[in-house]
Amino acid sequence: MVHETGFYDLLGVKAQASPDEIKKAYRKLALKYHPDKNPSEGERFKLISQAYEVLSDAKKRDLYDQGGEQAIKEGGMSGGGSPTDIFNMFFGGGGRTQRERRGKNVVHQLSVTLDEMYNGGTRKLGLQKNVICEKCEGYGGKKGALEKCLSCKGRGVTIKVQQIGPGMIQQIQSMCADCQGQGEKFSSKDRCKTCNGHKVERTKKVLEVHIDKGMKDGQRITFHGEGDQEPGLEPGDVIIVLDQKEHPVFTRQEDNLIMQMEIKLVEALCGFKKAILTLDSRTLIISTQPGEVVKHNDLKCVQNEGMPIYREPFDKGQLFVQFQVEFPEKHWLPEHLMFQLERLLPARDEVVVSDDMEEVTLSEADSQSQQRGSSREAYEEDDEGQRQGVQCQTQ
Ligand SMILES: [Zn+2]
Ligand SMILES: [Zn+2]
Repeated sequence: MVHETGFYDLLGVKAQASPDEIKKAYRKLALKYHPDKNPSEGERFKLISQAYEVLSDAKKRDLYDQGGEQAIKEGGMSGGGSPTDIFNMFFGGGGRTQRERRGKNVVHQLSVTLDEMYNGGTRKLGLQKNVICEKCEGYGGKKGALEKCLSCKGRGVTIKVQQIGPGMIQQIQSMCADCQGQGEKFSSKDRCKTCNGHKVERTKKVLEVHIDKGMKDGQRITFHGEGDQEPGLEPGDVIIVLDQKEHPVFTRQEDNLIMQMEIKLVEALCGFKKAILTLDSRTLIISTQPGEVVKHNDLKCVQNEGMPIYREPFDKGQLFVQFQVEFPEKHWLPEHLMFQLERLLPARDEVVVSDDMEEVTLSEADSQSQQRGSSREAYEEDDEGQRQGVQCQTQ
């Protein structure tokens, strides 16, 4: 039983969410609330990271499901990594062994369609980045013209004395605003006019992102050294994380595609021929043999019509088709014809009603009583049912 759902709520997932769903939810939120992009949401970023740290670890998740946040604290399992470490571990680009003099990596999410992942393609992405000022070569002004900052007397910091109570003073040390803590600065005539002494300029850079056939949701594409430039630092990387948009027809599961197909009762019983439009705009025709019966929720598959395999695009996964049998509405057949239909259908089981039995009324179930019936157990069974369904037999 799940008692507490706070961590799940933070990530916006159900308590039954699969590890993949949890990953995906974290990915979206962490990018959205990362202090680089959303400086005012630092607290939120921390909470999201904490929730992900627990829910992404099967052991911690179990513990949390059983005893909530309290159990995590008592078990000494909380507070392992800092939000930034968790983020860097997830998106890569962390894990540099020694602290090199290197700029930050920048992570961007790129929304792509399933069609693009199937067919491959190129996307142009315009990014703002800092580059070293060409005019002053990152020096900030005329060479040799740096002078000691007068505001801080070259210390780079200023000290402010503040009275905080009768007879009590406090010294506040802060970075010198005049020289940005450098202790030296250019006089206004020597300062580089192009970058205004900032040594870098903000420019727009267009990156061409190649989406290869079969790339997956969450896959990273790294542009080495395309991060912000800063004098004396090796620039970090730009990391593009693919985010697959939902497709109206196909759902992807690894290299397989799954689709739902509605068929009429007559088609389920007497056979059918149906067309499927593929992601590369071909039309496939599927059909059943006479005598075959397709039941509601039956899963069938077409070999080699799933997603192209990444880096082996001539191989493909499988296409699974799950059938939804559409039953006719009530009174579709006049009652006097019912017996003709019944004659054709497999015989029914008769119940012999005796006096000690109770006949009760069967009525439509309202949504409330339905909700009461769908306990967590029912959900779980549903999930299992879908997951186990992806085995395709070669005929
Ligand atoms: Zn100064
Ligand atoms: Zn300059």
